[in-house]
Order: sequence, then C-alpha cells, then structure tokens
Amino acid sequence: MNRTDLKGISLPELEEFLARWGKERYRARQLFRWIYRRHADDFDAMTDLSKELRGILASSCRISGFPAERVETSADGTEKYLFRLEDGEAVESVLIPDEGRRTLCISSQAGCPLQCGFCATGASGFLRNMTSAEIVQQACFAERRLAGRGERLSNVVFMGMGEPLLNVPDVSRAIGILLSQFGFGISGKRVTVSTAGIVPEMLTLAQRHPVSFAVSINAARDDLRSLLMPVNRKYPLKEVVAAMRRIPLQSGRKVTAEYVLLAGVNDSPGDALALSRLFRGARIKVNLIPYNAHEASPYRAPAAGTVDRFRNVLVAEGIQTITRERRGADIRAACGQLSAAGGKRG
Ligand code: SAH
Repeated sequence: MNRTDLKGISLPELEEFLARWGKERYRARQLFRWIYRRHADDFDAMTDLSKELRGILASSCRISGFPAERVETSADGTEKYLFRLEDGEAVESVLIPDEGRRTLCISSQAGCPLQCGFCATGASGFLRNMTSAEIVQQACFAERRLAGRGERLSNVVFMGMGEPLLNVPDVSRAIGILLSQFGFGISGKRVTVSTAGIVPEMLTLAQRHPVSFAVSINAARDDLRSLLMPVNRKYPLKEVVAAMRRIPLQSGRKVTAEYVLLAGVNDSPGDALALSRLFRGARIKVNLIPYNAHEASPYRAPAAGTVDRFRNVLVAEGIQTITRERRGADIRAACGQLSAAGGKRG
C-alpha cells in the first residue's frame, strides 16, 4: 500500500486530511509539533493523540526522513551535507554558523535548468524538482543536529542548488512549514528566497508568504546579463528590477540584489555606477559576492582592492552594500560551488 507521507504537507492540507476521519483541527497542530519540533517518525510515540488515531495513522501514513549521507566540516565551522534522495539523486545543503546565527542554505531542485555560466550547479544539468518533504527534510536534519549542541536554526536561505521559483508549489509548502508557529517557527524576515529573477513567481510568492527576497542581478546591462544568465532573455533586467520594486515590504526592510563579481567581466567602477542607476530610489540593498572558483567555469575572482572599489562606488551613490564573506570554500560549500558531485548511484 502507498502510505501518505505526512512530512512536507501544509497545515491546512493536514487539517483537511484529518477531517476525513472526523478529527479536529487541533490534531493537525499536534502532529505538526511531533514532526517538526520533536522530530518523531513513529506514531506510537505521539502519546497525546488517541490510540484510535495513532492506529489509523500507523496503518495508512508515514513520516519520511533521511540523514545526510556525508557531512563535511570546513576549517571555518561551515558544514556541508550531502543528501541521497529516495530515487538516488543527490543534493547538498550548507550550515553556516556566524556569531549568534545558524543559517541553513538549502536546495530546491536536484540540478538546475538555468545554466548560469559561473555556477557549478547548472553545469550538471537539471535532474528534477525536489518535493516539499525533501526540501523541509534538510532543515529537519540540521535542526536535529543542532539540538545536540543546544542550538537551533535561526535563518534559512534558498540559495543552494536549483531555482526555487521554478518549483513554487513545493517551495511554498516548505516555507509554510518553516514559518508556522507549530512547525519551525522561524520569522519570515529570516527566511530568504533567492531567485535568478523569475518575474511572475516573484510576485506570486511574495503575496503568499512574508519572506525576504534576494535577486541575482550579476550584470547591469542586458547584453552582459544574457551572456552570464540565459534566463535574462526571458525576463530582462528592466522587468526584474520593476518586480523587485513591487515586492511588498514591511517598514525598514529591503530587497537584496546579489551581484557575483567576476574579474574583468562585471567589476569595473563603470559597472558599479550603472548598477546604482538601476536601483535609484528603490528599497534595494546590494550583496556583493566575489566569485568562488570551480572547474566548470572559466571565470576568476577579482582582487580584494577591486571589490572594495566597486563597493565604494555603490556606497557613494547611497546604496547600502555588503560584501559576502566567503565561507566553506575548502569543502566546496561556498556560493555557486554546490553540485551533486555525489552523482546518482548505480
Ligand atoms: N537560483 C537561485 C538560487 C541559487 S544561487 C538564484 O539564482 O538566486 C545563489 C547565489 O550564488 C546567486 O546569487 C548566484 O548568482 C551566486 N553564485 C552562483 N555561482 C557562484 C560562484 N561561482 N561564485 C559566487 N557566487 C555564485
């Protein structure tokens, strides 16, 4: 018999599912707590549910979950997890400890269809969308691991493998679970969806969940952006920036523009000035990411002085700018270095 997987389904879906057996709504919240707070996978342990309900669940449902097949730890404390999915595909997540924060960078697709020229994930091609259960399992695994050290996940960023906005139904369910007070209970401010700029879905998701958005811009001109990111032919800069301006924001919040700096390609002061013009008057801050090297791409990282010069131009134009610190490069866990290097087995 095909058991219904309770991991990854949304709270309203779970309520509806239980209503079919005449069970009250609050039963769904209790189940949520067992699954995401106490990490139970055995219905017998759920002692605050009636014996009858436990019996029904045990005979027709399951709670999926998988541990990391491999854990690598960087000299800077960053951890990379390789997960083997039930069909043998592999995805990676990265846990980044930083002072009080514990940020998990998660994947939403096995591989990626977008083929950005500087990113290792696209080089391995697109395998498939991840299910909401698989997306959320990355957080379940990290949360359990952290609990052993008396810590909790504080932030989640959809900046791992894949384009989250090409997998909106499952990404949206996963976000609902991360934000739910009966699930992970993480504030929307601390959950960031990073996109290459899939314009219609940016606005759909923003209306559905109060999460933070980061948009990979990477070039201030269409010709260069199309060269680096083929998706720009479908959603050109003007439309992407217009969508960034339309994302509803709470007071004091901004949309992040990510900009990978590639030596000699997009890192001149003129590029910085053009970038600042795009964002004039918008509630946008810039996150500069010096390129992280990998074999699948011909680019090089800019010198530290070039990064500072680029940043100074933006700051002089009144744009809040931070340079992303490189983390986990020794275990190939830095931005753009994730690939299913584990490969499919067999
Ligand atoms: N598909 C989504 C999320 C994954 S990428 C997106 O495009 O936003 C996460 C970030 O890493 C993006 O901003 C991307 O531009 C950046 N990135 C990709 N490859 C990189 C590399 N080799 N060095 C530095 N940053 C890279």
